[in-house]
Amino acid sequence: MLLARVAVPVPLGQAFSYSVGPELAERVRRGARVLCPFGRRRVLGVVLDVGDREPDVPLEKLKALTAVVDPEPVLPEELLGFLQEVARYYLCPVGEVIQLALPAVERSAAENLSLEEALPGKVVGRLVQTVKATGLEPTEKLRGRAPELIAYLREAGPQTLAELGERFSSARSLVARLEKLGLVEVTRVEVSVDPYREPVERDQPPELTPAQSAAVEAITGCLDRREPRSFLLDGVTASGKTEVYLRAVQRSLELGRGAIVLVPEIALTPQLVARFRARLGERIAVLHSAQSDRDRHAMWRSLRSGAVRVAVGARSALFAPVQDLGLVCIDEEHDGSFKQEDGVRYHARDMALLRAHRAGAVCVLGSATPSLASVSLVQQGKLEELRLPARARSTSALPEVEIVDLRRVGPGPGGEKLLSVALYRELERALAARQQSILFLNRRGFSPSLICEECGTIAECPNCSVALTLHRAGGERAVCHYCDFSRSVRQGCAECKNERLIEEGSGTERIESMLGAEFPSARIARLDRDVAAGAKSEKVLERVRRGDVDILVGTQMVTKGHDLPNVTLVGVLNADAALSMPDFRAAERSFHLLVQVAGRAGRAELPGRVLIQTRQPEHPAIVFAQQHDVRGFIRAELKAREELGYPPFSRLALVRFDAVDEARARDEAERLARIALRASEPGVEILGPAPAPIARLRSRFRFRFLLRARERGPLRKTLLSVLRASVNRHVRMAIDVDPMNML
Ligand code: ADP
Ligand code: ZN
Repeated sequence: MLLARVAVPVPLGQAFSYSVGPELAERVRRGARVLCPFGRRRVLGVVLDVGDREPDVPLEKLKALTAVVDPEPVLPEELLGFLQEVARYYLCPVGEVIQLALPAVERSAAENLSLEEALPGKVVGRLVQTVKATGLEPTEKLRGRAPELIAYLREAGPQTLAELGERFSSARSLVARLEKLGLVEVTRVEVSVDPYREPVERDQPPELTPAQSAAVEAITGCLDRREPRSFLLDGVTASGKTEVYLRAVQRSLELGRGAIVLVPEIALTPQLVARFRARLGERIAVLHSAQSDRDRHAMWRSLRSGAVRVAVGARSALFAPVQDLGLVCIDEEHDGSFKQEDGVRYHARDMALLRAHRAGAVCVLGSATPSLASVSLVQQGKLEELRLPARARSTSALPEVEIVDLRRVGPGPGGEKLLSVALYRELERALAARQQSILFLNRRGFSPSLICEECGTIAECPNCSVALTLHRAGGERAVCHYCDFSRSVRQGCAECKNERLIEEGSGTERIESMLGAEFPSARIARLDRDVAAGAKSEKVLERVRRGDVDILVGTQMVTKGHDLPNVTLVGVLNADAALSMPDFRAAERSFHLLVQVAGRAGRAELPGRVLIQTRQPEHPAIVFAQQHDVRGFIRAELKAREELGYPPFSRLALVRFDAVDEARARDEAERLARIALRASEPGVEILGPAPAPIARLRSRFRFRFLLRARERGPLRKTLLSVLRASVNRHVRMAIDVDPMNML
């Protein structure tokens, strides 16, 4: 009997079998999308294989495929095989993993999809809406800017919605309202998106430094010989790693092969993207989350067809359908954003090595602060190390780092502890010299906690076991940073109803306002999630780059790889917040943050200066960061990890449970931990179950247990037995293989 195994987009099991009718037999093939019945729905699945075999379900339950959508496989064989491996590695339903590789338009629910629409080759473009005034007179009084908009249209003639958007802040809703009233007419035209975009000015490649040349030769040599080797490009900040990626991508293109370049957060790295554009012109597709589905689809198509061969983007770009993949580069490979924390919990760095290996491609992981995981791969001989020990422009030395012991120094003139006297003096100096400063603080909002003056209760989120943060902008509100719950501060203490709450500690918002008061002539900007979500952050950075900002204060967003030549002072206001996280990677993450943010200072001709404020000046992460001693830190931290039996000296999997009902979540965690224990292979330890450090999140109680083993094999087998057990339907269970977030 002809059966097809189909990966369907449901969070269950692996693949499902369908019978293939004679009318479809010719056209069903691996990698093609098919419409198939699933429960009472019809879904769009991807065929994994077709063959003559005995059905694995009773005949009366076996359903038939409804239709074949693609004459050609929607995913290239190399990518499909890789996705199956990803599903295996993370013990995830293959149907869900395949969704990672299909843009929304390609995977839209089949219920709403005619076969016609699902067909590839249909031009999907950008929707251009042109608005013109009808001339009709309004029958009711128009509110807001509506009369102005109509007057403008009458005067200026038809306008596109985008043009109107530049003049009227809420053009879209205004136009929708006026269209309903018959006062404007909207024509909608779909224009095919030109993935080649606007032409860009090409750059002039610099002459490589000797260290860069050696790295480029090692990489391009492997490309030329089609030798699928993987490298760790370990180069200090501003050592010219990006130049190495550019040369490698260029060679891959010359050889007729494609490339993928992953960057941590694309919205924060527009400069990097611009450099790729300037070198490679229209041959690259940039994939990012702020893109419309249509744009993304156009990019996807141009990659799939081979018209464009380079994909640049955040972690999900790893699943781009690049043809004949020759190279995968991961910039800032240590960055936490490469791990996806929901759905398919994959790590793009680990999976990049896998995809490259399977595709016969070269993989380059680059960082100024390599992860312990990658260094350990070097030690095992699985990665070859390439080093760029100095900054590319010989004039720029690494900045001098001074530690400010917060236990010993007093607050500066403003009375704020985190603006210490030492930092204050440095800010004055930078301002006087017309140079720029960056201040980094791990906390957004005004004050990280609110304490009742009367009973001492800390204001907590009603849904989560975390403290509420005071935000001043947009009204005095106490906000949960985990679930976005907020309430007015005027409600006072939730326990004793006392009205006075004491603001404890400082966030970026307070620092910004203190700086404004202390340095009235300075131009101050803030960069954190509250002021700059997504593309807006680029506007803030653009102002800094133009020299319109003297002091930039912000969260992690300021630590990313910005190249801002006039920044000479970097202040880390409080290094302790990151150090004290209940996570065995806290020291590693803090160290990365410190070195990365310090690397923002003195990148060009001007010498840089860094101040790190802390109450733990003797902590290894601080001491090694002060000395720019990445090697030293890694050596010490690897030793500590080995002693404690943590990765990279062991493998972990976290099994998480959450439920509205605390007892239920705990009972299931205990029951499944017993099952794991009974099934556990030799060498597998089970730690817990225990409540998660954040014991309650979004009104759900959280428990977990941890599996630890030296080898992946036995760990995997034990996990499979956990996965096979049934779980109470009121409890959610999630398996996180190689967990990064221990909270
Ligand atoms: P990284 O990626 O290691 O942080 P970049 O590639 O951004 O470093 O390089 C830092 C600066 O040095 C950039 O402004 C870049 O244009 C410049 N640069 C890189 N390589 C060279 C070179 N070989 N000669 C001169 N300048 C270079
Ligand atoms: Zn909350």
